Amino acid sequence: MSGFELTILGCSSATPTSTRNPTAQILQVAGHSFLIDCGEATQIQLRKFKIKFQRIDHIFISHLHGDHYLGLMGLLSSMHLLGRTKELFIYCPNGLQEIIDVQLKYSATVLNYEIHYRIHDTSKQELLFEDDKVSVETILLNHRIPCCGFIFREKKKELNLRKDVIHYRHIPIAAFADIKKGKDSGEDGKTIPNAELTFPELPVHSYAYCSDTCYDETVIKQVGAVDLLYHEATFTEDMKQRAKETHHSTAADAAKVALKAGVTQLLIGHYSARYTDLNPLLDEARAIFPNTHLAHEGLKVNLETISVNKN
Ligand SMILES: [Zn+2]
Ligand SMILES: [Zn+2]
Repeated sequence: MSGFELTILGCSSATPTSTRNPTAQILQVAGHSFLIDCGEATQIQLRKFKIKFQRIDHIFISHLHGDHYLGLMGLLSSMHLLGRTKELFIYCPNGLQEIIDVQLKYSATVLNYEIHYRIHDTSKQELLFEDDKVSVETILLNHRIPCCGFIFREKKKELNLRKDVIHYRHIPIAAFADIKKGKDSGEDGKTIPNAELTFPELPVHSYAYCSDTCYDETVIKQVGAVDLLYHEATFTEDMKQRAKETHHSTAADAAKVALKAGVTQLLIGHYSARYTDLNPLLDEARAIFPNTHLAHEGLKVNLETISVNKN
């Protein structure tokens, strides 16, 4: 699986509406299907958008407000009933394992697969996962209870060989691995620069997820100039006081974070159920950060396209 694609499964805050589900997203990158938060009915949304449950090996839970994890027990149970034996990794706040264990205990369920829980350290940014293609770090958010966002970064990709030149120059197969990593090649004592043997480097992409949080300058520094930022925008500016009390953001707050961090594109979501028309939220954000879009159920964003637009 190639590409770097985000699918929105839910983008409502607190309570669902007839058209919006609580928070959940799937990020497909480097052969992984990362599940980010798991609000109620996430498994139904996965079915609806034809995303396979068993491809999910890593689940990232931001915090323990119900709109971000109440779909987890159902999903774990279905994975079990569908015959999963593969281990599963859940990155979460302290307490989630206890919540899951008590439900398993009173339903006398012993899962066929093992779950590894990794508890967020909310005192510092930390690396949660990495392989040779992608890494996932936390973003420390400012909410009523401990809460982390996540930043997903592709790693530098191997260079593609120019087979015509390689053939013409009689480069031995044994040298290919080093050339793909950017090294030059030697021929009769002469060096052939890597740029002659390979195609230009492919761009790498990054995605930051910030929900739930109030406006906080420290979040800006952690996010940096990512290709795509998803930031909660629970309220419009006239509800600023309510946003402050509940440790949430307005659409303008989200736009300020995007602008100051220098991101390429902003996606807002986590809307309060009070809004049926989301255009006032979009207008307020676009007045500050024009490249803002509204999240909605089923929306797919291709990060590779965003980067092409940037250049
Ligand atoms: Zn929430
Ligand atoms: Zn919350």
